[in-house]
Amino acid sequence: MTGVVTDACIKCKHMDCVEVCPVDAFYEGENMLVINPVECVDCGCCVEACPVDAIVFGDEPRAKPWLELNAKYSALWPNVTFDGGQTPADADQFQAVAGKFELYFSPRPGAGDIGSPVGVARTSACSRCHDETALGKIMRIVRRLWR
Ligand code: SF4
Ligand code: SF4
Repeated sequence: MTGVVTDACIKCKHMDCVEVCPVDAFYEGENMLVINPVECVDCGCCVEACPVDAIVFGDEPRAKPWLELNAKYSALWPNVTFDGGQTPADADQFQAVAGKFELYFSPRPGAGDIGSPVGVARTSACSRCHDETALGKIMRIVRRLWR
């Protein structure tokens, strides 16, 4: 079963999960992340990595209220593939807060990789691999064949 991010992630965003995902299945909202259930390969790495136990497998009872939210918002929010410093400074204060969805959930998208200060730095250092767009890759191959 796919990994599912629960409301425990809201206002925490520690990003450990993103760093271990082998298929870049995380998407960033303004104050939480979600997992794309189609892309997730059920490895469980993020379940282990999350310091606040915010991720569960889809067949666990805790996952049920959040299955639809992960599927819906992973189609709307931008992909995030590395820790770009998104963790709020006050994350620890919200770790044990109950009812975070009702209090703080935001449907607005986060910045994803593109908006990350770290992403900007890495893009300029490594534009040929991880951060290159699909179109960029195709153009580079075409240019190489043309020579
Ligand atoms: S590690 Fe846990 S709290 Fe941090 S972003 Fe991932 S799911 Fe959210
Ligand atoms: S279970 Fe594995 S593949 Fe799925 S989101 Fe977590 S780390 Fe990525």
